[in-house]
Amino acid sequence: MFRGHKSRQKVLSALKNKDLQVALSRAANHHFQKFKATQAQINWPQLKEKAQRIREKNLNQLPELIRQFTSEATQSGAHIYWAEDADQANKIIEEIIKQKQAKLIVKSKSMVTEEIGLNDYLQKKGLTVIETDLGEWLIQLAGDRPSHLTAPALHLTKEKMAELLEKKFQVDIPPKPENLVRFARQQLRPIFYQAEIGISGANLAVAETGSLVILSNEGNARLVTSLPSVHIALITIEKFVATLEEAMTLVKALVVPSSGNKITTYVSFITGPSRTTDIEKQVVFGAHGPQEVHIVILDNGRSSALENEQLKKALSCLKCGGCLLVCPVFQQVGGHVYGGPVYPGGIGTILTTITHSPKEAKLGVNLCADCKRCEDFCPVNIPTGDLLVSIKNQLPPSGAEFFLSRLFRHFSLLKIGASLGSRVPKFLRKIPSSLFAQNRWLKNKKIPLPSPSTKFPLPQEPSKPTVLLFQGCLIRFFFPSIAQAASEVLAYFNWEVISPPHQACCGAPSLHLGRKEDFLALAKKNIALISDFQPDVIITLCPTGNSFLKKKYPEFFPEFKPWAERVRDFSDFLASFDPPFPIDQDKQKVFYHYSCHFLYDLGLKEKPLELLKKWRYDPILENEPYTCCGFAGAFSLRNPELSTQLWNKKKTKLEASNLHLVATDCPGCIWQFQSYLNNENDNYQVFHTAELIAKSLTTNILNKENTVSDQKINL
Ligand code: SF4
Ligand code: SF4
Repeated sequence: MFRGHKSRQKVLSALKNKDLQVALSRAANHHFQKFKATQAQINWPQLKEKAQRIREKNLNQLPELIRQFTSEATQSGAHIYWAEDADQANKIIEEIIKQKQAKLIVKSKSMVTEEIGLNDYLQKKGLTVIETDLGEWLIQLAGDRPSHLTAPALHLTKEKMAELLEKKFQVDIPPKPENLVRFARQQLRPIFYQAEIGISGANLAVAETGSLVILSNEGNARLVTSLPSVHIALITIEKFVATLEEAMTLVKALVVPSSGNKITTYVSFITGPSRTTDIEKQVVFGAHGPQEVHIVILDNGRSSALENEQLKKALSCLKCGGCLLVCPVFQQVGGHVYGGPVYPGGIGTILTTITHSPKEAKLGVNLCADCKRCEDFCPVNIPTGDLLVSIKNQLPPSGAEFFLSRLFRHFSLLKIGASLGSRVPKFLRKIPSSLFAQNRWLKNKKIPLPSPSTKFPLPQEPSKPTVLLFQGCLIRFFFPSIAQAASEVLAYFNWEVISPPHQACCGAPSLHLGRKEDFLALAKKNIALISDFQPDVIITLCPTGNSFLKKKYPEFFPEFKPWAERVRDFSDFLASFDPPFPIDQDKQKVFYHYSCHFLYDLGLKEKPLELLKKWRYDPILENEPYTCCGFAGAFSLRNPELSTQLWNKKKTKLEASNLHLVATDCPGCIWQFQSYLNNENDNYQVFHTAELIAKSLTTNILNKENTVSDQKINL
């Protein structure tokens, strides 16, 4: 429906690839545990903020920084070159190698050399290029390409790696990490000594000293940059920092999400060629390290990206790769399915847009669930999800996307669409999706029968403070009991609740479908409505709606800012009110599911737990990392199989809790839970937190059972 056949096949084959699934799950698990342990020992939010500030400042000073670096590095004896694009960079490097009449080149891991296709280029010229990072070496042997920014062979299990080496070298190697590492060391050691040229990238370049900063754990980067007599470094323009002090902050910020350590084993600052002044204090180059250092500075689309307010944010990226392994989508499909030729994952899709074209990034854009997890983990707070949405809006929408977005724009059409969708006869759902593409989605998704929206009277007592209840489409069509419950609780606390019937969709679906025009039209309607009613507080029951009203509307309509400050999520708002007396008895256990937007976008981790505890519930969380349920609006329409796989992981965690009562703060997640749990015929009850609070209010305080919604899943 939304994606080309080839792209879909790529995703499906990744989902079915058992080895890939094992490799990804092992890596994600190890990565998360290490990251969490280190994060707990440092002031991570403070480090992130500092690193973000440094990156933003440096990006605004790049021409001066590059000038200063060039002057300092030249004084230290390095040779500096400027390459506009990949072709120029390849030619410059080839020329340096030619002048040295070298034949054997060793390389340390560098995504920029992948970006310019350096290995292929040099090999076509008859040169031998050997990768020395263990993962890179393995995938070079396999004729493969990296699937992760810092862990290139992440898609291979240790068993597959051992198989590969056995085949290539006719040896028997047990699939244990230690054995694999020892074997690689034995193979590569003599090559380091024979190589005439060492090629590296660099993590940073320091303007005040003309130094390259190179991080590594294996130690291969040190050998590549020390043993051969010539070192060539390829560095891109966004990597320049002003001072050594700034560089160290960025090094710390980069290492934590990358490897889960506080620092890498090796942090090299390379300032020109090796030298000695031991003989009468005269400078002689090429003591034990290289005699020559050549630094190629590459632009390749980055200067243009700096002119673009959105893309510029992505240039802060430190290429730590931390965001990839926490991305629920990457965790299922790995790095090879993203459309671009080099850079994997969400941030990789943006880098592909910068260095190649938005068209090549299309598949990656459509794979993003905009869950905001990556932003939470990013050491420099790059809003990857947001940037992908903005790239999506530069691409022409498909017919289906256009049509759906128009539905959201017109409430009455949407109502008809929802009503028809909920009545899709059973026999249609059984038609193979090869004949009826919509069945890829409909197969697992039960569309509830639309219920009549809750009618809210217009304000009666103007003296009371007013709450405007912004319901959102899902609640208005399918779950009006949630709005009803929320209004009863708010009314109990003496708020005048209004919820105008002509409120429009928040516009999130349209923006995610690539239809900014529709989003803007919807936002305008809601802004006019809110300005008319002048509420004291605007309460949302859906985290995406909250985020749009609070953050997106003021971004496009700055005059909405004062109103945006009044937007509160229901659970966040209610958590500050206490029940009239403590309800301590009979606490009921409830499995609490964090919606991604609620947790990572609104950052409201504690509020729903606080609220539920006050009102007779004992919220139980799944073990970290919290999983996505797979709904994510337009994402599940585009990627139904991926959505199902994500759900299956959530279901495993739900089952492990042995709880059958579920609470969450997102109507989209409620739909996802109800669709799948309903299909599987289990005795689960899924509620919005507002419904549970209303229920507790009625049972424990108002003592009038059954007056609030007691919506059960139809079994
Ligand atoms: S927003 Fe979520 S789905 Fe999109 S790239 Fe980031 S982590 Fe992945
Ligand atoms: S976007 Fe952030 S987390 Fe992802 S690679 Fe770049 S710096 Fe690291």
